[in-house]
Amino acid sequence: MVIAIDGPAASGKSSVARRLARKIGFDYVNSGAMYRAVTWELLREGIDPARSESVEAALARMSLDCGFSGEGEFFIRVNSELPEVELRESSVNSQVSEVSAIPAVRRLIGSRLHAVAAGRRVVMEGRDIGTAVFPETPHKFYLDATPEVRRRRRAAEGHNDSIEKRDRIDSTRRHAPLAVAPDANVIDTSHLTLEGVVEAITGILRHRGIGPA
Ligand code: C5P
Repeated sequence: MVIAIDGPAASGKSSVARRLARKIGFDYVNSGAMYRAVTWELLREGIDPARSESVEAALARMSLDCGFSGEGEFFIRVNSELPEVELRESSVNSQVSEVSAIPAVRRLIGSRLHAVAAGRRVVMEGRDIGTAVFPETPHKFYLDATPEVRRRRRAAEGHNDSIEKRDRIDSTRRHAPLAVAPDANVIDTSHLTLEGVVEAITGILRHRGIGPA
């Protein structure tokens, strides 16, 4: 079973998805971290993300897997490395949307996301989880917040991240753009606390018989 949490950058998805998963006893999967890991590896190899043929050639050689540690933490391994803080580097922030627009990248990561969720109960956050990766799940949430609130949140985290540019590329790309699924529950998190958003989602899930064991 997949609970999809989509939305633009700094809409609160990661904190909400992680907290929600813990609360209802699901595993947490951060699909954005997969796109970041591929971008990080391409940059490490000196590949220009604008050259999709070079990206495709690199993908063919790339070993990419993800799974859960003994403690249940989601991990990503790319060419035997386990990048973590590196995924938040500004070079990754500034290039990840271009890499994510390449269909071969989306195919590769989409297949990994399906494999990691198989037979599990997961909360998966991203941009296209409810629209393209798991469109069949009835549990879709789209988190949003005003651009000003999102900018403030990202600045408070101390990251150098041009979220407007990422959102523009993410929502206008041809393949699986950021969009609200017609059957998604849209939650504006601008004036809600983290716990408030998690409560709103658990309330909806409780009505569907999903909740803490
Ligand atoms: O969620 P996060 O901001 O870490 O995602 C980084 C980038 O990865 C996004 O800006 C987007 O380009 C890409 N992404 C995507 N599809 C997803 C998740 C993330 O294209 N499901």
